[in-house]
Amino acid sequence: MTESTPTPGPGDGGAPDGAAGGAARGADITPERPVVALGGGPAGLTAGYLLAKQGKPVIVLESTDQVGGIARTDVREGYRFDLGGHRFFTKAKEVDDLWHEILADEFLKRPRQSRIYWNHKFLEYPLQGMDVIKKLGPVDLTKALLSYLWAAVKPKGREDTFEDWVSNRFGRWLFNQFFKSYTEKVWGVSTSEIRSEWAAQRIKGLSFFAAAKHAFLGNRGNQIKSLISEFNYPRYGPGQMWEKMRDEIRAQGGEVRLNAPVTRIRFDGNRVIEVVAGGETISPSYVISSLPLRTTVGVAEPEAPGDVRDAARGLRYRDFLTVLLVIQDEDVFPDNWIYIHDPSVKVGRIQNFRSWSPWMVPNQTDASIGMEYFCFEGDALWSMPDDQLVSMATREIQQLGLARADKVKMGFVVRVHKAYPMYDAEYSERVATIRGWLDRIPNLIQVGRNGLHRYNNSDHSMLTAMRAVDNILTGSKHDIWAVNAESVYHEEDVADEHPYADAPKTPAMEQPLA
Ligand SMILES: Cc1cc2nc3c(=O)[nH]c(=O)nc-3n(C[C@H](O)[C@H](O)[C@H](O)COP(=O)(O)OP(=O)(O)OC[C@H]3O[C@@H](n4cnc5c(N)ncnc54)[C@H](O)[C@@H]3O)c2cc1C
Repeated sequence: MTESTPTPGPGDGGAPDGAAGGAARGADITPERPVVALGGGPAGLTAGYLLAKQGKPVIVLESTDQVGGIARTDVREGYRFDLGGHRFFTKAKEVDDLWHEILADEFLKRPRQSRIYWNHKFLEYPLQGMDVIKKLGPVDLTKALLSYLWAAVKPKGREDTFEDWVSNRFGRWLFNQFFKSYTEKVWGVSTSEIRSEWAAQRIKGLSFFAAAKHAFLGNRGNQIKSLISEFNYPRYGPGQMWEKMRDEIRAQGGEVRLNAPVTRIRFDGNRVIEVVAGGETISPSYVISSLPLRTTVGVAEPEAPGDVRDAARGLRYRDFLTVLLVIQDEDVFPDNWIYIHDPSVKVGRIQNFRSWSPWMVPNQTDASIGMEYFCFEGDALWSMPDDQLVSMATREIQQLGLARADKVKMGFVVRVHKAYPMYDAEYSERVATIRGWLDRIPNLIQVGRNGLHRYNNSDHSMLTAMRAVDNILTGSKHDIWAVNAESVYHEEDVADEHPYADAPKTPAMEQPLA
């Protein structure tokens, strides 16, 4: 859910001095001392691919039996599905070029359609004026207008929370109807626990009239918005991109080791001297790590300093699970996905993978539907047995009127750890503490999404890996931490401002660091 920004050029500072020191850049990379990329998601694979392409010995270490990380495509009984639909869209030309280089004609251009389910109706998204009027009808339109006028005449004095901020600008009725339910599902707390500053940043420039204008006149002149009416998508889902990268790395002489969880990063002073994964020990020249910051700190030996470990322990994540339902019905709905703004069901978003690409299903008589639930690892939803989750998703899809329960042929559950790095009041301070420690280790470079604790989409996760490789091979000093998100073109983007007034303690925080 993110972004793009101009990429930093050489000399932007920030890369650890000596990250690629010496006259013959990369000469210290040998088969005995390869570069080791930790994690086989988009970031780790990009590092592996670029290094292997240049003939550099490289080993990618992935803990699971599959590449792609959060952006992978799972397959059950021939039905392919993403963990959250993954659009390929970027303003970074070099990433776009790489995607095309990897997949060529398999990289399809797909139309985008999405709607909001609200009050038993489907509203076009982005909102369309006539559609809103038609769907709301005269009674609800009058309620919205009266509530808006009341808020305009008698606004709440203090705007401490998301709830206050939105109600003052849109009226209480619209707040309750449109903003409350989905926001609470995504963030896992009441909107009265979400800060007004976050609302101001996230809903920047939006008011009742701006929204109405947008709904009636569209988003004229905004090329970015019109661009996301279509997006690239691999014929067989994003996994195809990462699987092809894995194959290319191997074809070029690099290694991708699966089922190889990194359990130790050993240091001699300020240098990494060994990485232990899957029971084997490797002596790397450089390490490019896309492991969550928490994990990198946790596997350090000797232990990272106390303040760094405390900072890592405090990093929080929002998790996510998807229930795949195979439904005997070729036309459940035409959208790629639907947002569920309805408090009577727990599902937050529903994907229709056949709309993403017809090749995602083994036959054209069944639909493959991803029912997405936002949760915290260890909470009631996360811990619910799979069969109960499938039953709940089946019940909910019928309740929403999208499919009959008796048409559901089978269901599968996939839980996604650390789907969203959480921005709470202390996260940037914690990340800075960990970064201070990392900056003293010249041959260890963190990249990616959880690797930097940022809402990086796959394009920026890949870009950070590209910059890391460049730093190693050319001696550039790109600041990896500055390759980040500008919350412009993905309407779901999450701004850097943290949402929580008081972030909940998550059960996963109690677990050991690694
Ligand atoms: C719901 C959702 C929707 C999204 N939609 C989009 C979208 O539409 N478009 C888009 O571009 N991006 C999207 N993203 C973001 C995208 O998924 C990430 O940017 C991308 O996957 C990050 O890549 P990464 O390599 O940094 O991390 P990851 O994908 O998290 O990969 C890290 C890898 O490291 C492995 N690992 C972890 N610990 C260890 C260990 N100890 N040893 C070895 N390996 C380990 C993991 O198994 C994983 O394979 C979405 C994300 C979510 C959660």
